[in-house]
Amino acid sequence: MKLLSIVVPCYNEEEVLNLFYEEIIKILHKITDINKEIIFVNDGSRDKTLEVIKKLELKDCEIKHISFSRNFGKESAILAGLDNCRGDYVVLMDADLQHPPSKVLEMYNIMIDKKCDMVTTRRISRKGESKIRSFFANLFYKLINSVSDVKMVPGSQDFRIMTRQVVNSILKLSEYNRFSKGIFNWIGYDTIYVELENVERAAGTTSWSFMGLFKYAIEGMVSFTTAPLKLATVFGSITSLGAFVYLIYLIIKTLLYGADISGFPTIVSLILVLGGIQLLAIGIIGEYLSKTYLECKNRPKYFIKDKKL
Ligand code: UDP
Ligand code: MG
Repeated sequence: MKLLSIVVPCYNEEEVLNLFYEEIIKILHKITDINKEIIFVNDGSRDKTLEVIKKLELKDCEIKHISFSRNFGKESAILAGLDNCRGDYVVLMDADLQHPPSKVLEMYNIMIDKKCDMVTTRRISRKGESKIRSFFANLFYKLINSVSDVKMVPGSQDFRIMTRQVVNSILKLSEYNRFSKGIFNWIGYDTIYVELENVERAAGTTSWSFMGLFKYAIEGMVSFTTAPLKLATVFGSITSLGAFVYLIYLIIKTLLYGADISGFPTIVSLILVLGGIQLLAIGIIGEYLSKTYLECKNRPKYFIKDKKL
């Protein structure tokens, strides 16, 4: 019989895990034509998440876990889950019930009926989310889609079901700076989108601060497009051209009317504008350089301290 793996990254989710288990198990009971395993990836939680998982393991032999030596971030947790699951089909979902377990059944059925490679969800509303966060999220998608070859669907989430072939393809991407939203699109394959209303967290708090999301967005940009690097070339060319035209104008003016010492504001504004553009360009190069530095070190993406597989 085939195997369905449910991979769940968990970071400080003690309050919600039991509820999650009850909900997901109800759904899994309805899927009878396949064996199942649930793999919780404990991403260095500081609360009792691991203990809760171990208690659940005593009740249910389909439950497995991987526990990291520290918090390595959701991307590493996703990777570890995909690395260690054995399913022919693999579901990736959050523990906080923002990815409703009831959808798993719908997605599984679509996958089997339509024989596609991946079924994923797309948030159709950002209800309950702050206006600023939605604004920046939309801006991010507009920006990245206008410069990157890989198109990202606004509102698409990590919540998805994939075939073994898709999982193996994802695992072939061995980069250190992982941006799953981009990776899922980059690998290709036939994907069907299911619409989902925004759901609030069942308990606990989100581990994403605004700054965290901002960094994640920059990471996405840097991982999936080199267009910002070209910005420096474009800015540089335009300003050099402008400076050249201005220089000719100055020479002619001096020849015709003689030199004057006015023009202080022009010089100051030029210095400021050019200085700003140079700093921006250096900053952009720095972003890519730092990512390249991390990739070169080729460090492991996580360490497993404890597991039951
Ligand atoms: N998560 C994780 N490691 C982290 C942060 C989050 O494994 O460093 C897990 C978390 O337990 C949850 C999922 O990733 O299952 C999504 O996190 P969260 O709900 O905080 O993010 P949001 O839903 O607000 O985007
Ligand atoms: Mg959440």
